[in-house]
Amino acid sequence: MKTPDTRAALRHYDLARDPVDHGLDPVLPAEPGPVHALDLEPDRVYRRHAHLDNNRSVVFSEWSGTYTALCERIVRVILPMPFDTADPDVCPQCQRWAELRIADPAEFKRQRREWMNEKLQRDEEQENITEWKRRGHNTTA
Ligand SMILES: [Zn+2]
Repeated sequence: MKTPDTRAALRHYDLARDPVDHGLDPVLPAEPGPVHALDLEPDRVYRRHAHLDNNRSVVFSEWSGTYTALCERIVRVILPMPFDTADPDVCPQCQRWAELRIADPAEFKRQRREWMNEKLQRDEEQENITEWKRRGHNTTA
């Protein structure tokens, strides 16, 4: 099922030599890999990216980290079509989130919040571990 307010997205693009100016331009990848879902919900930051509203052209993001899929992977190719949960090549995590959003938007929001909080906690724990190791290393040095 096509998920409203999403765009299908890929992790990487290929580079091709432009025959005229001989620069390297991003092009659709020969091996696209799994298709991810970029959430365009009104409260998401990507709403501000006006070029995503025009659903007609591919967007290549040359800056890492600009676009993050529902599964939290960074995506750099935004396709001019919604994420389709029935596509055989979709990322299973993005598929799960998209299906939940279609079935129960309120529950989707709740679980996303929970998931993001857990992620923040995990990041914090990781920082604490890094800090602890750094200190541990310093005491034995
Ligand atoms: Zn994904």
